[in-house]
Amino acid sequence: MLRTPKSVPILAPPCISPPPVGVSSGNALVVLSFDIEEHHRIEAASHLSVSPESQVYYRNRMEVSTHWLLDQLAARDAKATFYVVGELAHLSRDLVKAIARAGHEVGSHGWDHRRVLAMDPKTFREDVRKCKDALEQATGKPVSGFRAPTFSIVRKTIWALEILAEEGYLYDSSIYPVRHDRYGIPELPLTPFEVRTKVGPILELPPLTLRWLGMNLPVGGGGYFRLLPSWFMSCGIRQMSRRGVQNPAVLYFHPWEFDAQQERLPLSGPSRFRTYTGIQTSQRRLQELLDAGHRFERAEDVARDLRGGDLPRFEMERIREGQFTLV
Ligand SMILES: [Zn+2]
Repeated sequence: MLRTPKSVPILAPPCISPPPVGVSSGNALVVLSFDIEEHHRIEAASHLSVSPESQVYYRNRMEVSTHWLLDQLAARDAKATFYVVGELAHLSRDLVKAIARAGHEVGSHGWDHRRVLAMDPKTFREDVRKCKDALEQATGKPVSGFRAPTFSIVRKTIWALEILAEEGYLYDSSIYPVRHDRYGIPELPLTPFEVRTKVGPILELPPLTLRWLGMNLPVGGGGYFRLLPSWFMSCGIRQMSRRGVQNPAVLYFHPWEFDAQQERLPLSGPSRFRTYTGIQTSQRRLQELLDAGHRFERAEDVARDLRGGDLPRFEMERIREGQFTLV
């Protein structure tokens, strides 16, 4: 017997229905962020040995794709944040300068894309100092934001926040409040919050999640952007704006995700699927997002507006111990 899909309305996210009359689906505060690294640096390819020729090839592709992104943003007068790998301040210096010249924020994505989990506090300090310094010299502008490769600030690397605060970073955007085998602290808020450290506070801007059926679904970008239908991200954006107009939907993408013509890395089946599915339509989908009527602001501007405001506050040491009480 054929069953009618009675369960569908229950499973559908709460915002799948059109917004109420008079409420625009756009006009939400959105931080577009781009993690600027060459395609061969992705976590799924960390076991591969990539020849120097291929590294140059992927760097060239990254530069072309990032210029495409800059063109798309310029055509709409939208501003964004680019978290750039420090080595590119030398290897792709003109590109890094062009990003800053266009009025976008240049933030730090670590010196050579090493995960925080692979470093001790001393190495991490050297890494973020070197990266900040190189990017500031290339652009002539201060770097105030950090995004850890593969969102690798988790409970056991939470010490990284104190080092970032001490090294002069205003905010971090590396803690994904989701349950995942490689990253995430699902107990922390979905909206911006402040973490107190011994050397001072640092603001955290979490990537976008959708609260649905008691779960935090990661819908902020990357593979989730390419693999899930667009309405997951749209729902997440709308849900975030309903939590307060000052709360940004922080989205993240990589230049290689918009380059369907690039040579594929020799990845295994599941990694290949996660990496390349949806890449053919991602340019169009980004353009639709840019045309959706949202307010696009740079993460550092959002962070400055939020700083010192009425935010949830946590002690870094408590987070490390697994206690998430507000202070
Ligand atoms: Zn990255």
